[in-house]
Amino acid sequence: MAEKEESRSVIASRVQSPSSINTYRQCPRKYYYNYIAGLPTKKSIALIKGSIIHEVLEDFFDINPAHLGDDCKDYLRKEIMRLFMAKWKQSQGDIDSICTPDKAVHASDCMLMLSNWTEWFLKRIDAKVRTGKTAADAFRQLTPVREQEYISPEDSVRGFIDAIEEEDGRIRLIDYKTSSRDEITEEYLLQLSIYALLYRVRHGKLPDVVGLHFLRHGEKEIEATESMVEYARREIHGVHKKTLTTDKKDYVKKIGPLCKWSSGQCDFYDTCVKD
Ligand code: SF4
Repeated sequence: MAEKEESRSVIASRVQSPSSINTYRQCPRKYYYNYIAGLPTKKSIALIKGSIIHEVLEDFFDINPAHLGDDCKDYLRKEIMRLFMAKWKQSQGDIDSICTPDKAVHASDCMLMLSNWTEWFLKRIDAKVRTGKTAADAFRQLTPVREQEYISPEDSVRGFIDAIEEEDGRIRLIDYKTSSRDEITEEYLLQLSIYALLYRVRHGKLPDVVGLHFLRHGEKEIEATESMVEYARREIHGVHKKTLTTDKKDYVKKIGPLCKWSSGQCDFYDTCVKD
């Protein structure tokens, strides 16, 4: 027994992320393949679309507000589509490598999500303009801090927050989602709780709100609370404890609907069935 224990390679600490923690909860063996064995994950059209949309929403706010007059709406609508087209073109090699026959359908789907977001954003510009602000000032005020990396060394966890907004002294942390349903699932709740923890560690206070912007549906937000931080800590440290070993046998397979479904399969399915 002692020999067996010694033969296990143990690692001191691993920096987790919302994604790694949720992967462990979904299936420990999947965590092993991804984060310990380092097996490559597969490209998918959903991942490429998500990445392009996140980049567009990040770069959109690099627009120079000085260019925005009272008739800025059409300019902003055109600008976001121009950004999308440029990024879609840049990703053409990756998209072609997946050989998706319905590329045009996927491009339209992305444009629809970005158009939804733009109309939502323009309403916020309008609301500010109605209070007497110029469109340029409204744009400046609504520009979030984007793709900010947060780390908590004491919890050994990190995350990238898509958008941090401050309006009238209220702080909102937002993550963009391209999912088909606008449900704050357990997985998403944990992600938001980790963001609340990360924000609190860096700034010494909680954000007011954490939320998800479902690009097909709209926003859902919840008040950030200390109990979310406690929940995040419990989950993070629980996963740390269970991932000290690099012995595959310690990472059990959790066989379920996420192994294989009608239109796809787990990235490690082929390896897993042979193991
Ligand atoms: S195929 Fe299923 S059991 Fe195997 S790693 Fe993937 S999710 Fe886990």
